[in-house]
Amino acid sequence: MDGLDSAGTSYEFAKRAAGGVGVWLACGLYLAALALSHALATALGNVPVFWPPAAIAMATFLSTDRRQWWMTAVFMAVSGALAGQIGAGGALAGLLISTADIAVGIAGSLLFQRLNAHKDMLTRLRTLADLFLVAALVATAHATATVWISADPGSPHFYQSWTIRWAAVALGLLLATPLAAGFLPQPDRLARWRPSGSLILPATLALGSTAVAYLAWPGHSDVPLVVALTSVPFLVWIAVTCSTLEAAAVLAAVSVLELCLAVAGYGPTADPDWPSDVRILWLQFLLLARGGTILMLCSAIAARRQVEIIAEDQSTRLQSMVEAVPDAIITIDERGLITFFSTAAERMFQYRAEEVVGQNVKILMPMPYQSEHDGYLSRYLRTGEKRIIGIGRIVVGRRKDGSTFPIELAVGEALSKGGHIFTGLIRDISERQETERRLHEVQDDLIHVSRLSAMGELASALAHELNQPLTAISNYLLAARQLVQRGPEHAERAMDIIGRSIDQAARAGRIIRQLRQFVQKREVERTPSEIDKVVDEASALAFIGLKEKGIHVTIERQGSLLAVPVDRIQIQQVLINLIRNAVDAMEGMERRDLTITIALHDNHVRISVIDTGTGIATDMHEKMFQAFATTKPAGMGVGLSISRNIVEAHGGRLWFEPNPDGGTIFHLDLPLTDGQAG
Ligand code: ADP
Repeated sequence: MDGLDSAGTSYEFAKRAAGGVGVWLACGLYLAALALSHALATALGNVPVFWPPAAIAMATFLSTDRRQWWMTAVFMAVSGALAGQIGAGGALAGLLISTADIAVGIAGSLLFQRLNAHKDMLTRLRTLADLFLVAALVATAHATATVWISADPGSPHFYQSWTIRWAAVALGLLLATPLAAGFLPQPDRLARWRPSGSLILPATLALGSTAVAYLAWPGHSDVPLVVALTSVPFLVWIAVTCSTLEAAAVLAAVSVLELCLAVAGYGPTADPDWPSDVRILWLQFLLLARGGTILMLCSAIAARRQVEIIAEDQSTRLQSMVEAVPDAIITIDERGLITFFSTAAERMFQYRAEEVVGQNVKILMPMPYQSEHDGYLSRYLRTGEKRIIGIGRIVVGRRKDGSTFPIELAVGEALSKGGHIFTGLIRDISERQETERRLHEVQDDLIHVSRLSAMGELASALAHELNQPLTAISNYLLAARQLVQRGPEHAERAMDIIGRSIDQAARAGRIIRQLRQFVQKREVERTPSEIDKVVDEASALAFIGLKEKGIHVTIERQGSLLAVPVDRIQIQQVLINLIRNAVDAMEGMERRDLTITIALHDNHVRISVIDTGTGIATDMHEKMFQAFATTKPAGMGVGLSISRNIVEAHGGRLWFEPNPDGGTIFHLDLPLTDGQAG
């Protein structure tokens, strides 16, 4: 049956255990239960008032491997025949009654497993309800069978004895099955059992008060059956403070004691004005009702305990997880009051949890966040407008000593019964910002150095370039001096020549100024710059000294262009690098055409540097933009990597493709609006 298999390890264990001590223990228990039942019979028809053997049978079949069922059944049948032989009714009647026990035991266990895969009957209300149902059905079958076997039908009290038998079996199942099912699969559990400290007193009181109430009862009074409720407060006490099995055991012991005393003629059922069997019946039903109620209480408490254990377990696990997270975790309620403050938060904000729990979270924020936070929170709760929740932002935190530090804050939200709970995950990014700042500094240094190195390459060309205006100035001035020496009539001509030399000096000055600006170490500043001009200046610098290399340069532009927000010097550095790479690539080539195009697109401007050089070898494709990747003997290999960094910091893109006419095209896209600061 699948119930048996799906129950998993507990049944597996039960099967193995029962193979050993379990079956013997079960048969011993069965025999003891038979003896007890025979002892507890009504005065009139000798009908047993408590019948646990059926319960022991059912618990045994529930707990043993099916291969052992037949052996168990044989033992039980023999025990029944023996008991019948020794006691009243004879061996055949005993055998038949045991057969009824075995039959209802098997049917009951199969039905119970079908209904419920849980072995422990006292920890779930649902399982207990299944037990009640099975008990009612099994008792009906058993009472009907045994009433015939015991030849009660002939008696004038047929229905009465049927009901007493029914109640006897039901009581047996209710009180004995949970106990037997609890101990049979793990016989050693019984050996290991030590009563909880809190058990002895209420158990003694329950048994003692019952004994006193019954024994003190004269046997003929109007005091009703409620005497049977004497033990109830103590049973509830045990149910609340002890384990479910202990509560069930004391309940069974008290019930058996009451039945023994009742059968012996004590207690409320001893009223001689009332037919004793009817009084027994009343007592049985009262005990059934009391037993059911106490067991339900036990299982409700056990279920609650289990929930508490699970909750405690989860909270311990959560706690350890929270402690393991290096980020600070803080939870707040709808009013912004801190409800949880993790150890990492204590370290980060220098407050102890008990100092801040219950306080408004804004104490962890500097102005202006501090004054705005309550407003944000109430606006969010009113309108659902999110500022940080589910988004995450970089904000500023405030330590206990008032110092502030940058934090990355992510906020999650949950809705509990008590309202919204907001959980903040906070990372101190002061270190990261410091690292980024250092990185920027290093990058700036690198960019500067690479500009200097580019200048190094340009130096000789520059000397040549400056030589021209200087020679011209010197020639012009010589000529002017000669003219002035010749007489005042040549003054006008001399003035003209001096004017030209001033032009040349200005030209040289311009070149030097541009170079100085280019090489100077300076802060990055992005200002709207006319991109045509930026390209013109860059190519002017890049082409210094290139005329001799026989390169044919074309700059193609597309109408007038908007001002683009760039750091002029940095973009020029990129362009100079691209142009000089292109020039290097065309060295020794027959065709040396360099084209620079400037084109306006939707939201960006594209500058393309097109050469007819060697092209780029496939194995270089991947490495091109990595630092120190070079094919040139004197190259540093940092130009393109720096260029790409610069372009990306502008929110742009730098990439290349092969030129269909041979050579390479480098594209540089720059956004028209300053979308990405950095
Ligand atoms: P460097 O110029 O110092 O080598 P770069 O990062 O500027 O450093 O360039 C890396 C490498 O990319 C160059 O060594 C060269 O092999 C290749 N390269 C760059 N631009 C071109 C181009 N236009 N045509 C062919 N190869 C190029």
